[in-house]
Parts: sequence; C-alpha cells; structure tokens
Amino acid sequence: MLAIAAVAWSFSSSKVHVMRRYIGLDLGGTNVKAGAVDGDGTLIHKVSRPTTRDRGADAVTAEMAEAARQAAQAAGWSMDDVSAIGIGAPGPIDFDNGVIVAMPNLDGFDHYPLRDKLAQATGRPCELENDANAAAYAEFWVGAARDPKVRHVVMLTLGTGVGTGIIMDGHIFHGAFGNGAEGGHMIVQPHGRPCGCGQRGCLETYASASHVARIVNDALDAGEASSLSRVERPVESRQIFAAAAQGDTLALRVVDQAADYLGVACVSICRLLDPQMILFAGGMTLAGDFLFDRIRVAFDRHRWNVAEDRVRIGPATLGNDAGVIGAAGVAWDALQRGRIAGGS
Ligand SMILES: [Zn+2]
Repeated sequence: MLAIAAVAWSFSSSKVHVMRRYIGLDLGGTNVKAGAVDGDGTLIHKVSRPTTRDRGADAVTAEMAEAARQAAQAAGWSMDDVSAIGIGAPGPIDFDNGVIVAMPNLDGFDHYPLRDKLAQATGRPCELENDANAAAYAEFWVGAARDPKVRHVVMLTLGTGVGTGIIMDGHIFHGAFGNGAEGGHMIVQPHGRPCGCGQRGCLETYASASHVARIVNDALDAGEASSLSRVERPVESRQIFAAAAQGDTLALRVVDQAADYLGVACVSICRLLDPQMILFAGGMTLAGDFLFDRIRVAFDRHRWNVAEDRVRIGPATLGNDAGVIGAAGVAWDALQRGRIAGGS
C-alpha cells in the first residue's frame, strides 16, 4: 500500500523516471560523497566523508554505507525508503558482475565485488559503474544534455587524466570487456609523450589538466622564458590559463596545443560515434570560451568536409555534483532494465 502510494510518474520529458528515491555514491581516493537524489534527478542533500585508504576494502565499504545512511537521513528518508544505490568508482570495472578490477588510489580493491558487498552492508540493491560513465549519465539525465531529443552524448573530463563517458541511444556504452570509453588513451600522436598506461602519445598526455601543467613546468625547468617563471612551482593549470589569457607565449603555446588535440579527438569521436553533443568537464573548462573557442577552431580545421557536422561542443553544467547525481541515475537505470530488483 505504502509502496504504491510512493510511486508517481513524471511526464516532464521522454527521460521519464518513476518518482523514487536513490542514493548516489562517488568514491574517490581521499573521500566518498553520497547524494540523496529523487526520481527527477534533483539532488536533495549531499555529504562527504574521508576514506581511510590503508584499512582495506571492507572498511571503506562500511564508510560508504555510513555515508549513504547520512545522506538519506539528512534528506528525511529512512534507508527503507531508498529504492537503489548507485556507485561511481574510478578505474576499470567488471560491470556485469559489479566488481572493481583495479583501483590504484585505494588499497585492497583489486577484484573486489563492491556492488554486492555494499548491498550486504546497506540492505539495498546496488549498481556499480565507472565514475566517468556515471558523470556523463548525470549530464545526459539532468545536465547539459537533458534535452529529451539528445540521446547520444560523449563527455570528456579534463583532470589528472581525461575521463570519458559515452551515452549511446540513452544508455552507457561499456564495450565487450570493460575497457571501452577510455578516450583519454586514444593515441593522437604516434611515438609521442609517454603515458602512465604504457602507450605513447595518448590524448591525456597533451590535454589533461595535470599534463598541461607538467608540460609547462618541464619547460620552465628547462629555462624557457615565461611570466610563469616568477610563480611558485609547481605551476597549476588555472595559472597557466590565466597567463595564456594575458598573452604569455609559453602558456599560450601549451593551451593551443591541448585545444588542438582535443579538437582532433572530437573529430575522431564524431567519425566513430556521431554524437549529438560532446561535453567537457573539469577545472580547465572554467576557462570558458577561451578554451572552447580554441577547441571549436581546431575541430573545424581538422574535420571532414563530406557532410556538415552538427555536433555541439560545450561545457558540462553539473560540476562536482555530477558524480553523485550520475551514480543515482545509474541505479535508476539498473532498476528500469531489471538488472537489480526493485526496492520500495
Ligand atoms: Zn595512455
């Protein structure tokens, strides 16, 4: 009776969601965020707790369960009210089995069945997803790509690396072996800069926030003249963008190079997937049109001329909330598709 009363439908868009309650968990190397999110994708409350990286996976799972309870409580919900919990986690996952394959920043998580462990700890059905995929799903659901006509979206998050999420026909694309949607490791420069993955010339070695900073710091160490040589090392990407905006030659060259490779990546993404939108997230996007104008110019310079490209290239809109909102969206999607049994 109560369960029936709790279910209502929203017809505000074709991305119709049953009005249920979800917890989205965003697991990082130093903390876990939990968001209480309703069936419309509205973030009701968010909490953040530190994770203890050296106490093992079971201890972190218990901390995640506690964060979920705190978020539910702050939203005025009991855990029994929560239909499902979604988890966004870094690194490769075995999506079908809900298993973390590897997680460099937290001890004891290699081949750890986080989905089922958290379900045991919380008593709620859970779904596990890669964090970049979850963030892309958030933008698709209620962010920059929330337009119901938009069904094909690629999102690149420019941070330590270049996180990638692909939504095709309204669903997250995983590939066959759990290694899909790793756009940061598309090779854009054969025999180029070495990448932590073992390849050379990966997109992220030219265009992630960390690598942009590394390229500039290396140039400064080599004695290249720049207004940034007066700044305390290591110089960060936001300082590089500020210097570029002031016309600093070194900063501008590295920013232009990053934008050029991102434009090249957009062309390749379009040829392969033909998405309606390519979104960029992460701190570098705070540079706004200073970055996006350069990416669009590079895209136009490199793209084919067989037909008009109608893809829209622009910023994501949910910022740091995308992780928890997207994880909740993943839980919703898992319920809809029958991957997990429905909660209350
Ligand atoms: Zn790589």
